[in-house]
Amino acid sequence: MGADRLQLYELSAREAHEKLVAGDVSARELTDAVLGRIDSVEERVKAFVTVLPEGARRKADAVDARIAAGEKLRPGEGVPLALKDNLCTDGVETTCSSKILKGFIPPYNATVVEKLSAAGTPFVGKVNLDEFAMGSSTENSAFFVTHNPWDLSRVPGGSSGGSTASVAAGEAFWALGSDTGGSIRQPASFCGVVGLKPTYGRVSRYGLVAFASSLDQIGPITKTVYDNALLLSLISGHDALDSTSVKTEVPDYTKACVANVKGLRLGVPAEYFAKGVSDEVAASVRKAAEKLQELGAIVEECSLPVTEYALATYYIIAPAEASSNLARYDGVRFGHRTERASTPLELFKRTREEGFGPEVKQRIMIGTYALSAGYYDAFYLKAQKVRTLIKQDFDNAFSRFDALITPTAPTPAFKIGEKTDDPLEMKLSDILTIPINMAGLPAISLPCGFSSEGLPIGLQLIGPAFSEETLLRVAYTYEQASEWHGRRAAL
Ligand code: GLN
Repeated sequence: MGADRLQLYELSAREAHEKLVAGDVSARELTDAVLGRIDSVEERVKAFVTVLPEGARRKADAVDARIAAGEKLRPGEGVPLALKDNLCTDGVETTCSSKILKGFIPPYNATVVEKLSAAGTPFVGKVNLDEFAMGSSTENSAFFVTHNPWDLSRVPGGSSGGSTASVAAGEAFWALGSDTGGSIRQPASFCGVVGLKPTYGRVSRYGLVAFASSLDQIGPITKTVYDNALLLSLISGHDALDSTSVKTEVPDYTKACVANVKGLRLGVPAEYFAKGVSDEVAASVRKAAEKLQELGAIVEECSLPVTEYALATYYIIAPAEASSNLARYDGVRFGHRTERASTPLELFKRTREEGFGPEVKQRIMIGTYALSAGYYDAFYLKAQKVRTLIKQDFDNAFSRFDALITPTAPTPAFKIGEKTDDPLEMKLSDILTIPINMAGLPAISLPCGFSSEGLPIGLQLIGPAFSEETLLRVAYTYEQASEWHGRRAAL
């Protein structure tokens, strides 16, 4: 479909930016296009915790003023974006979709927010997530559930469900999410968009509200692979404010968007097509692998035998780190404070009892237990050892392959309410994404088909540390040879 016949809000970020550069639209018009879309569909999609019309328009006007002054536009400048509401925004409420942070207004910007702001990005709003990014459907948000634009009776995935739904619905051209065990990739696959979890250390996490610090990464959520590469370039890099960020050069990732996979070695790990993965999902991903083979890649089966232990290991390590990170919400410094306390201890207890939702409380309890004296060795230490084995599994695979191709999630988007009574079923939806965080690796999810019910299916490409360029190249090559990314949800 020609870009000319699309509505403005349906354009990719690249197309929108090209129109801006050509003088066909103003930044104000681009911003009004997504704000108008929010007006017409948000009641049904429910992606936004906070919409920021004034701030976005002010930023857009500043971009238009630069154009009027004859200045050259920077990459991506003027193209409106949505921020997951666990990224700190100076002067703008940041809730993590939790009651405990209701009313918390950070006095500073996250580094990624600061970088994008300096690059001339209008922020259309802060979007919904599972409380503190703990979940796979946004149903754990303390405020409301976000709906999947492809089928409003279904979840958008999670925890970055607000980010992926807003992009799929045309309420933002692109978005940022965070990924601790799959929270960018799984919702990207459910909403038919592109989501990338960068290598641990690639993107500064300063100002990202911490969930599990050895796993969390911020990453781009976009309509196309090119947009993803551009947004990754804009947010990557070393940051003195985040000691885990790495001092390696940031390439221009858009240069990796060339359609050529000749001679690249791609592995297809058997364990990622095992029990629980729907036939339709497996078939779509295998077809995509065949397509890449036709295009010149060398595709071979392989095995990652430790995969089956990843989920159990994650549910020790992530809650352990969360229990420590979330200790700071005590009613003294941030957000909610109980009104029913006469002693300091009561203040802590009641604030936390009132402020945290059930999933968060459960994880704090599991994490505290796993770290407690006497159980530490049996749980936390053991989990860390298994984590090393998972990493070695990947190291072995990458001695033979440049990248691995797998499904992103075992099934397409499920119904709202379908898994809320079955926590294990819910957690199994991240079984194919969690191992990647455990090993600190980069991975991208992109559309590779639709189910018989018309729901998007995503494939995942996994690479060794700092191989984002390879992943983007393979993803771009596949995207150019397919038509999935051109489809838009009919709302
Ligand atoms: N769904 C997983 C969890 O609930 C992963 C979440 C995430 O990546 N933030 O922990």
